[in-house]
Amino acid sequence: MNTTGKVIRCRAATHWKPGAPLAIEEIEVAPPKAKEVRIKIMATGLCGTEMKMLANPNSHNNYPIILGHEGAGIVESVGEGVSTVKTGDKVITLFLPQCGECASCLNPGGNFCVQFKQSKTGLMSDGTSRFTCKGKPVYHFGNTSTFSEYTVIKEISVTKIDAVAPLEKVCLISCGFSTGYGAAITTAKVTPGSSCAVFGLGGVGLSVIMGCKAAGAARIIGVDVNKDKFEKAKEVGATECINPQDFEKPIQEVLFDMTGAGVEFCFEAIGNPATVAAALASCHESHGVCVIVGLLAAGTQLNISGWLFFSGRSLKGSVFGGWKSRENVSKLVSDYMAKKFNLDPLITHTLNLDKINEAVELMKTGKCIRCVLLL
Ligand code: NAD
Ligand code: ZN
Repeated sequence: MNTTGKVIRCRAATHWKPGAPLAIEEIEVAPPKAKEVRIKIMATGLCGTEMKMLANPNSHNNYPIILGHEGAGIVESVGEGVSTVKTGDKVITLFLPQCGECASCLNPGGNFCVQFKQSKTGLMSDGTSRFTCKGKPVYHFGNTSTFSEYTVIKEISVTKIDAVAPLEKVCLISCGFSTGYGAAITTAKVTPGSSCAVFGLGGVGLSVIMGCKAAGAARIIGVDVNKDKFEKAKEVGATECINPQDFEKPIQEVLFDMTGAGVEFCFEAIGNPATVAAALASCHESHGVCVIVGLLAAGTQLNISGWLFFSGRSLKGSVFGGWKSRENVSKLVSDYMAKKFNLDPLITHTLNLDKINEAVELMKTGKCIRCVLLL
């Protein structure tokens, strides 16, 4: 049946209010307007960022909302003026757009496209939503809303990928994998033979480890309060793992003892101000680089001694692994197809969208790295 130009009724996981479980409900998805694409989502990961949205009553989201931003699917139809994808193309959704025209997109080192900010409204460029449920408009999330069988996304937030790529795997390139791997390779530019530490061994932290390993780091120390994460971390390249709770000393002192002079590259993949401060203090005093990958809640203030910077340490942020999204995601998928990296260790669970609250529980209890939801 040709659905072009028609409203599609389908299932989505709707989030009605902070703290409520996700509700699988029938929704209506309007056709894409100019420069928009309607996508049949086939697979989506559940990222630590959604866990933060579900846990935080002050997430600044508007409700009801359809979450989800780690998606892969097939283009169902395109709006007027769309030229880079067409019906039937396999695509990955991009929470970070690439408009190609703003100062960040034009700067060779930047990737934080100015159009990202518009996603905060939860509405499309014309100020309206493409979703309704029970007669009410439903807000979009993160430029993507992948917890829905069909979604509408701006063309600048979609990229075409290899037609034979397995969507139930490469959906992780939409966020977690690229974020971590790129933080090591693109943002920190980890050097061969270097020492690294990664705080937080979820899907993002494990991908940082993969990036450090690919860059030729000699030592990669995983840090997590959940020991169950250590085996996986070692499988993807950690040379050793430690639990801060096993030591009397602060973790930065433990890392100094282990390395003699601190690590050269340190990554925070948790999103906690205390671990950001510890990660910075764990860096080598002269050339150590600390990268914040974890999402700090809006308004979070860091309590860091200014003295740590006197000797030359640096602290930087990284969004989506520093990749310009549209340009690099299709290349990362090609690299995956060429077996340059493996996504299997990150995928510990696969469930149908109906079971999304089970996936949330698995993440909450630390039993899961990534649960891929099939739609
Ligand atoms: P996750 O929940 O799977 O992993 C977090 C890990 O941190 C868990 O293993 C947990 O046990 C560990 N942890 C929690 N508190 C700790 C502490 N005090 N000390 C040591 N370890 C601790 O989440 P994820 O999907 O891997 O995402 C990690 C972070 O990255 C989140 O904050 C997420 O919002 C953020 N993120 C950022 C970007 C970006 O573009 N910068 C993109 C995606 C995700
Ligand atoms: Zn994410």
